[in-house]
Amino acid sequence: GQRPPVTESRVTTRPAYPRQVTPSIPDLASLHSMGAAQQPTYPDRAAVDAAVERLRTAPPLVFAGECDELKEKIAAVVRGEAFILQGGDCAETFAGVTADNVRNKLRVLLQMAVVLTYAASVPVVKVGRIAGQYAKPRSSDFETRNGVTLPAYRGDAVNGYDFTEESRIPDPQRLVDVYNNSAATLNLVRAFTTGGYADLRQVHTWNTDFVRSSPVGRRYEKLASEIERALTFMQAIGADPDEFHRADVHSSHEALVLEYEHALTRIDSRTQEPYDVSAHMVWIGERTRQIDGAHVELLSKIKNPIGVKLGPSTTPDDAIALARKLNPENEPGRLTFITRFGASKIREGLPPLIEKVQAEGLQVAWICDPMHGNTFEASSGYKTRSFDDVIDEVQGFFDVHAALGTWPGGLHVELTGDDVTECVGGGEELSADDLSNRYESVCDPRLNRVQSLEMAFLVAEMLSA
Ligand code: PEP
Ligand code: MN
Repeated sequence: GQRPPVTESRVTTRPAYPRQVTPSIPDLASLHSMGAAQQPTYPDRAAVDAAVERLRTAPPLVFAGECDELKEKIAAVVRGEAFILQGGDCAETFAGVTADNVRNKLRVLLQMAVVLTYAASVPVVKVGRIAGQYAKPRSSDFETRNGVTLPAYRGDAVNGYDFTEESRIPDPQRLVDVYNNSAATLNLVRAFTTGGYADLRQVHTWNTDFVRSSPVGRRYEKLASEIERALTFMQAIGADPDEFHRADVHSSHEALVLEYEHALTRIDSRTQEPYDVSAHMVWIGERTRQIDGAHVELLSKIKNPIGVKLGPSTTPDDAIALARKLNPENEPGRLTFITRFGASKIREGLPPLIEKVQAEGLQVAWICDPMHGNTFEASSGYKTRSFDDVIDEVQGFFDVHAALGTWPGGLHVELTGDDVTECVGGGEELSADDLSNRYESVCDPRLNRVQSLEMAFLVAEMLSA
């Protein structure tokens, strides 16, 4: 790799990283010197440099112009003219990059989006937690099983899920694997969504199958037949816009491992501005949103639309400081606050944040993550969430926005298109004892296919109430 020239200010003990991408982006070493939280401790720095070097020259996964388009769509959310549906796995895995898995996830997102579009009567901006969601922050650096303690699994981007000493050693080559798997996933997403799979009639047919053929779905027959009538009407008048045959699904993930996000931050040749070309949208997690931290610093420099998770410990001043640092020009669409309070806290916790942000005139989209504040350990030992708590948090989110006269901009959900058993409750009444049947998440519990569709119909009822 090319080393920067040694000047006075560079005579330090910093590792020798490749030259920084642009003067406006801090180099990796200075980001690390800010005390970046939740980073892997790599045993071999030379191997890290080699992986970073490879990533720096890899082609972009997304184009800056696509990021700008998403930003425009989120600006419509800020104005109350669109709704966001952001969803996918808590943690993608390399083994999960199969056509079936990606297709099922896409299908459920598209199905949910049609229901929500009809109910909200506004466009639904579709964003996957997909094609890059491989790095996980952990509440503990270690994990103990049967008296054995090993480093925690930090996502396939960092180490292996297998509970062995060997597999838990952080391996920087995995960052290159993240890039390759993200490229393969995104290629499939683009092919499915533009190649006829996202056809509105087709998606609606899947919804009617769910409604007609499952006991859980039957509750929603009325809404499904209203959508049917709307589609039939459109057909009858000969309306057949391009939008009926394709969908835009954008990629997103938590920007966590600095090596990866920094290496994929590039100067757009059109605008000369820096973009993180690893995804259309990236977000900062609850554990890495320190105002003086490396993640806020790096994301403050890129032009993509970005999100920040806000948990119950967030003060109104924290939210203001984040908005000022991350969106100094107060550009609508640039910043999304993803709140994750928990069902029992959202009704009290959310209003002070919204009120202060409104009072300061700051442009943000508010979206509700009803998953991360509602996690608990079931008696069977599995990490789970209750479907009722998830729905209750969404209801709280809508109630708070209705009371304040602000726009509930969307949902951020951990889900899968498969029939897993990870969250309890829902129309199928999954119990704690059912969790062992098909618990496949390597991190947090996801809504399964039926629970996800139910959520869409229940939220549709909230929206039309
Ligand atoms: C996540 O989205 O998987 C996550 C870790 O969320 P949070 O940062 O809100 O805890
Ligand atoms: Mn999660």
